[in-house]
Amino acid sequence: MGYFCPLCGKSINYAETIEGLCIHCYYEKHPIIEDTIFKDFTLSVCKFCGAIQDKKHRWHYYDTPLEDVFIKEIASYLKSKIKSKNIDFKIYDGSIKVLSATSGVFSFKIDIIVSLPQHMNKRYHIINTFEVPVYFSICDKCKKIKSGYFEAIVRFKKANDFIDKKTHEEIKQTLKNLMLAYTDNPKGFILKLTEKKKFLEAKVGSGTVAKAIGSYFRKHYNAHVIVTSKLKGMVSGKNVYQLAVSIELPKYHKGDLLKVGNEDICVVSKVTSKGIICDGLFSHKKYVFTRQDLEQSKISKISSDEIDEYQVISEKQNTYQIMSLSTYQIYEISKSEIPISLRKDDVLKGILFRNKVIFLAKK
Ligand SMILES: [Zn+2]
Ligand SMILES: [Zn+2]
Repeated sequence: MGYFCPLCGKSINYAETIEGLCIHCYYEKHPIIEDTIFKDFTLSVCKFCGAIQDKKHRWHYYDTPLEDVFIKEIASYLKSKIKSKNIDFKIYDGSIKVLSATSGVFSFKIDIIVSLPQHMNKRYHIINTFEVPVYFSICDKCKKIKSGYFEAIVRFKKANDFIDKKTHEEIKQTLKNLMLAYTDNPKGFILKLTEKKKFLEAKVGSGTVAKAIGSYFRKHYNAHVIVTSKLKGMVSGKNVYQLAVSIELPKYHKGDLLKVGNEDICVVSKVTSKGIICDGLFSHKKYVFTRQDLEQSKISKISSDEIDEYQVISEKQNTYQIMSLSTYQIYEISKSEIPISLRKDDVLKGILFRNKVIFLAKK
């Protein structure tokens, strides 16, 4: 025989009732999560960046949608409020309604998963809708950004050279990644990025963060970093300094080919923040060039159009005869000068230097 819930009239199995009511009617009369549970709960959010302020007035920054952040906040609040360990719940369907410039409401559903003592392995979903107030204000970071505040200027340049587009992009991406570590720091922001052909400049909210950016580029890019500070003015009787972090990216990279006047050509084997170390291909000497040395005009990068292809056309006892594939000029090269053995028709890249062909690497 069927059983009907006396409150809603639904036909149900008597074994699935509590005090004679269907599970939904029972929990409507005896809510598991009462509305009053949220009576002290509010969400305080920055209207510009969506940062959330906690009870101790600290701001927390997230890069996920605000609704998801709110749901997480509410879930951790609920966990702290619900005494019973047997209640499982899921918060979903969150939406923000803005009521004024400073206030709004956040509504959401809670799916409470319960089971009956007599039916422990069967789960029931009790779904309720709740609302909590939202207050909009402006966080410390946005306040500073809006007022144009910054403590340091970080300037990237390349010794005597333009910064190419690829490097510009790489610097910007690296800065963006670095700033992620400072999201919770109210001064951890970049106020403005200025991109020029010869430099890239960032106004950074915090001097400490600016110095950390310098250290990062010194360590990972072998950049030459100079930090200076100058007096900017006085604020409430205190001197205010502005920091300048100059980051000079190395001009040359490992593997670059350089011409050292008419003396030698060399390949860069190591880059440090102080300069470079090169292997001479003509003299087989090792060179150490400081940053100052690299300013000299006698050191220059060998462009790709100075590199030619040479084909082995014949082999003699101690020499190879090779031919330039662009000029068809024939050269002799002594076997002792190349560490590898070649065969007829091999093609290698080389540079003609002081009327001598210097091979770069096989193929
Ligand atoms: Zn019912
Ligand atoms: Zn903000």
